[in-house]
Amino acid sequence: MQAHPLVFDTKIAKDKPENIRHPHNDCPFCEPAELTDILAQDADRIWLMNKFPTLQATLQTIVIETRDHLGDIASYSQAQNRAIFSFALQHWQETIASGRYESVLLYKNFGPHSGGSLRHPHMQIVGLKDVDGYANITPANLTGYPIISTANLSVTASDQPIMGFVEFNVATSWDETDCLADAVQKVVQYTLNDYFNGRCDSYNLFFYPSKNQVVCKIEPLFNVSPYYIGYRLSQVDTPERMREIAAAVRHRFETK
Ligand SMILES: [Zn+2]
Repeated sequence: MQAHPLVFDTKIAKDKPENIRHPHNDCPFCEPAELTDILAQDADRIWLMNKFPTLQATLQTIVIETRDHLGDIASYSQAQNRAIFSFALQHWQETIASGRYESVLLYKNFGPHSGGSLRHPHMQIVGLKDVDGYANITPANLTGYPIISTANLSVTASDQPIMGFVEFNVATSWDETDCLADAVQKVVQYTLNDYFNGRCDSYNLFFYPSKNQVVCKIEPLFNVSPYYIGYRLSQVDTPERMREIAAAVRHRFETK
């Protein structure tokens, strides 16, 4: 069954700050002393209410990853990246466990093609009061062509992507979040530095709870395909190209 559409409130959206296209706009996340409605804090990581909750019937919260405006998963130290994943996953799980939402989403926008409005690195935890945000996703969307497969880690490139072209899936058990953080970091580094010779400047992360496992989908982003917008047709690369990409990602795991 298709999930119902989420309702977007234009009245709230019109005051939303934006500094992707206008980098000199003030960044609210660079002034931690001014932030309000903080839910949790750990070193320079802050979980707080979104000041511009544009979606009706939702809880919209933000995880500020670091004090550093230009930080990113690709460039954090391993320890910092692990701490950020641990913080975000913990509060996502807490929100799920509260039982107040039909479903709870954890995702991240990065870069001009990601749909994000603020450069400052952050993730979002969104509780949907009466929508199952996972209703359109099947297990086949979260696996695919194997890249890394060990006892506690699986990295795949989707052969049945949600949108396409390339979607990477990193799966671990819930108690292996360091392993998840390290693998996602390597795939994000591949996405921004190697994929299309570094011409990809944007990605999304989407997290999915799946029985004993947590899956993180890394989606390199260019412009959205009209085939997907108009017809909900996803696209994949040829098997030859998929093998090339898998080999390049695997190389990152083997060398660093
Ligand atoms: Zn900032």
